[in-house]
Amino acid sequence: MLVTLRDVPADAEIISHQLLLRGGYIRRVASGIYAYLPLMWRVLKKIKNIVREEMDSANALETLLPQLQPSEPWKSTGRWQAYTSGEGIMFHLKDRQGRELGLGPTHEEIITTLAKELLRSYRQLPITLYQIQSKFRDEIRPRFGLMRSREFIMKDAYSFHGNESSLKATYSSMDRTYKRIFNRCGLTTVAVDADSGSIGGAASQEFMVTAKTGEDFILTSSDGKYSANQEKAVSHPSPPIPLKEGKTSLIETKGQNTIKDLCQQNDIEASQIVKVILLVARLQSLKKQPVLISIRGDQELNEIKLINTLAAQIDEDIIDISYVNPEKLSSEGLESLPFGSIGPDLNDSVLSNAKSWEKNFLRLTDETASSLKSFICGANKIGKHHIHITWEKLGVIPTVADLRKAKSGDRCLHDKDQILKECRGIEVGHIFQLGRKYSQSLNATFTNENGKEEPYWMGCYGIGISRLAQAAVEQNHDNEGINWPLAIAPFEVIVVIANQKDPQQKKMGEEIYQRLIKGNIDALIDDRVERAGVKFKDADLIGIPFRIVVGRDAEAGKVELIKRSNRESKILLIEEALDKVISEVSSKRP
Ligand code: ATP
Ligand code: MG
Repeated sequence: MLVTLRDVPADAEIISHQLLLRGGYIRRVASGIYAYLPLMWRVLKKIKNIVREEMDSANALETLLPQLQPSEPWKSTGRWQAYTSGEGIMFHLKDRQGRELGLGPTHEEIITTLAKELLRSYRQLPITLYQIQSKFRDEIRPRFGLMRSREFIMKDAYSFHGNESSLKATYSSMDRTYKRIFNRCGLTTVAVDADSGSIGGAASQEFMVTAKTGEDFILTSSDGKYSANQEKAVSHPSPPIPLKEGKTSLIETKGQNTIKDLCQQNDIEASQIVKVILLVARLQSLKKQPVLISIRGDQELNEIKLINTLAAQIDEDIIDISYVNPEKLSSEGLESLPFGSIGPDLNDSVLSNAKSWEKNFLRLTDETASSLKSFICGANKIGKHHIHITWEKLGVIPTVADLRKAKSGDRCLHDKDQILKECRGIEVGHIFQLGRKYSQSLNATFTNENGKEEPYWMGCYGIGISRLAQAAVEQNHDNEGINWPLAIAPFEVIVVIANQKDPQQKKMGEEIYQRLIKGNIDALIDDRVERAGVKFKDADLIGIPFRIVVGRDAEAGKVELIKRSNRESKILLIEEALDKVISEVSSKRP
């Protein structure tokens, strides 16, 4: 079934998505829901085999968990609400008895519940279990085909340990396993420090396929010793430009609503300003906590760092954070706040009539702002700013936290002479040290050497199988089509009969195809009654690594052998062509 499309599908924005649709690999069924057609399924099976071989050789045991999951364990870990009503990533439903169920976006809850029943003694630890199956996530913005879909194939693995050092050992073994997997798949990846997100836990690392269309931002030091997802990255900020000496005073700043306006009209620098951002955090208990962030004017807030800082301070799960819309303040029962001129010392009394918000601000200050000796900031009156003000004069003792986005050009922490550079990446894998978060909340314990009950140490390890397949296309293509890495190509060789109506070509093509199959090569034959030009175009598009063309030279017992990657082409005797293909393909197998 080879159904290729000539036109670029209208809704496909990135090249890999276009090529997979055009090449007859996938079809869209609904938003973020795709059918994997026969060619794609072969690619996915090859990736799954590589993953399986490497996981098995790392002593992980394959299993298969249900996709339909009861809500109870999710309630015990506190994730039911966040996953159904917060970001709402989990598809959920009620059965005929009215019991709540979710379609698995991930499996920590299920596997930990099973471990609790089955892994009773330290003698059974450590153990790693994995599965390869479809996951469901009601993504806010499904896009880019298989890159961010709502049903996708994932390999997920979970490890259980009696102590932290055993967890760390498995975590590094998975790191090595992942590098082998991506290498074997023919992908160039970088491993980056990552935020653990709502999964939670201590250390985590993502594996990124670098690509201009990637949704993640990666910062890497020039010496390559440091790489991190921007969500997590740390750095030295550029030093501020000191404010010229002067007396503390109020300046008129009417209509100057942005940092840029303030700088231009008052001859100051963004790094001399403390900007204040108002957000509201929605908590598990449904409380709404207003948060006032102070950060240097030339810096940006990293929302992930903010959520992590809040989580550590509030002792309650955060469902989400949102910026405050000035127009919606009245529905909260509040008079208008001096937006554009808010200072770090905005008094709690402005919250006294709040209907649903807590009546005090949680105040956090980034180091870039707290370390300024003298600065400009809002004076809490529309159109007024303080200049040459200090924290002391404001009467605020800042609670300092790292809240800023590291960016390209910043100096690195490990070496001040190294500068961060930014690029984009596609996250294809993620490994976490979960620690005891899940085992504690699910009360999942084992009996240790001293006969005492203790919660397990856990790790979890994911690979986006279907995303990886598309990322491989994003990394390996040209103007004519896909250029699959050999190990994951749907077929290794395509035999193209140029003129199907020529009995000699037809016979020779079929013979070659049979010989390839006997030689244990994944071969495909294009024996359609189509013009040669159409067949060549299709072969380029679907991107099989070797092409044997049986055409005009058939009379002389010769064929053309073409390598898809560099378009190197040779006219060879049949025997030579077969020998060459079989030996090249076999030499690349593990
Ligand atoms: P992202 O940040 O891209 O949303 P995630 O961090 O939520 O992904 P994990 O929970 O770490 O994803 O899932 C493991 C792997 O599954 C990811 O590394 C990614 O390769 C893949 N994956 C996650 N979400 C999707 C999706 N919507 N479509 C396809 N693959 C996905
Ligand atoms: Mg992830």
